[in-house]
Amino acid sequence: MPRGINLARIIEKQLPAELVNFMWLAGEIAHTRGERIYLVGGVVRDLLLGQANLDLDLVVEGNAIELARQLRELNQGKITTHPQFNTAKLQWDRWSVDLTTARAETYEKPGALPSVTLSSIDDDLSRRDFTINVMAIRLNPGDYGKLFDPYGGRNDLKAKLIRVLHEKSFIDDATRIWRGLRYEQRLDFHLERKTLNLLKRDITMLDTISDDRIRYEIECVLEEKYPEKVFRRAEELGVLAKLHPALKGNGWLAEKFDQVRRLSSPQPPETELYLALLAYPLTSEEVESFISRLNLPKSLAQTLRDTIAVKNKMRSLAIPGLSPSNIYHLLDGYSSQALVANSLATESPVASQNIRLFLNKLKDIKILLTGDDLIKMGIASGPQIREVLELLREARLNGRVTTREGEEELVKGWLAQR
Ligand code: ATP
Repeated sequence: MPRGINLARIIEKQLPAELVNFMWLAGEIAHTRGERIYLVGGVVRDLLLGQANLDLDLVVEGNAIELARQLRELNQGKITTHPQFNTAKLQWDRWSVDLTTARAETYEKPGALPSVTLSSIDDDLSRRDFTINVMAIRLNPGDYGKLFDPYGGRNDLKAKLIRVLHEKSFIDDATRIWRGLRYEQRLDFHLERKTLNLLKRDITMLDTISDDRIRYEIECVLEEKYPEKVFRRAEELGVLAKLHPALKGNGWLAEKFDQVRRLSSPQPPETELYLALLAYPLTSEEVESFISRLNLPKSLAQTLRDTIAVKNKMRSLAIPGLSPSNIYHLLDGYSSQALVANSLATESPVASQNIRLFLNKLKDIKILLTGDDLIKMGIASGPQIREVLELLREARLNGRVTTREGEEELVKGWLAQR
């Protein structure tokens, strides 16, 4: 690697002027405070790759919170601080920058959150995940733009390799296994040979990670442009099985994820729908253990339960010639995301069509007469009201009644038969 490479021109070219000016200013002010400041992490990687990334992460050898306060005076932004971590977030106009005090971490036990002490940029970088994420750009005047690349990240970027910094990396924090697969698939890189072997060796360390941290990793995967690529690789390496042995990262999943994207375009797909399709191959018992491994929030958990419950009704839903009211009774009460997932996942075109009929029309069909209206028409309050409302719903769903007058006629007919 050439020594002393300077990225000032790349920064100027790729980042918006407001952020470039901010970084200059941050460098100047840190300098007057006798501190060193660096741009670090993903944005440095993406600057070198020529890819858009506006998430600025700054590391200060000094006091990030005090520096952030001083910068806030100048741009009149909003500041959020976390004194226990010595970090601050500065937001102004449409920009947001994270400032962190350089720190070192030690892992007392695998998978646990590390204990943190204040330190230098070298220590700060050495606790990070992969060489391509472990580059920093100096922002102090005089050094502005100089790349600090202690682990050969730039060479790995050129060779398209994902490489850990040391042999115990996945043991210290097995969430890096999922992170590694994400970068590999997002960037179209490869896990470097030794890193791949360490990853395989340490797969069991995923068991040391809490449910909430695993859920966060899966959420990150689902926010990737092509999550199915990460799941395919995760299946191949035995990582997906650690989430649940019955999950599949196969061609079927890729096809369904692609359909979801087309369905929601131009918006990005809802991750809930992706997750429902991922869980689709599971049984009702299996989905419970998947839900608890991810400690999913209530509504998401319900969507997954509903997905499997609707799948289990597929035989009935696939019968040709079902009446709208039959369809309504089969599908009423389930989450719409679970229904959409089933309409995409089922092999039966009839079932898929029935589900879409429910979603697009039947679920919104309303009766205009209320219980009070029925009482006024002479029906005694009590179970009879429910019976007549049900009758009205059937008639509405099957298209026998389309207006309020029609509903009244039907009620009169019912009364006449009494
Ligand atoms: P992305 O492009 O996915 O946002 P990023 O590199 O900005 O990538 P973040 O998750 O925002 O990733 O993390 C910021 C930096 O913190 C990373 O570049 C990485 O160096 C470091 N980091 C994050 N999580 C870990 C981890 N579990 N172990 C070690 N380092 C980590």
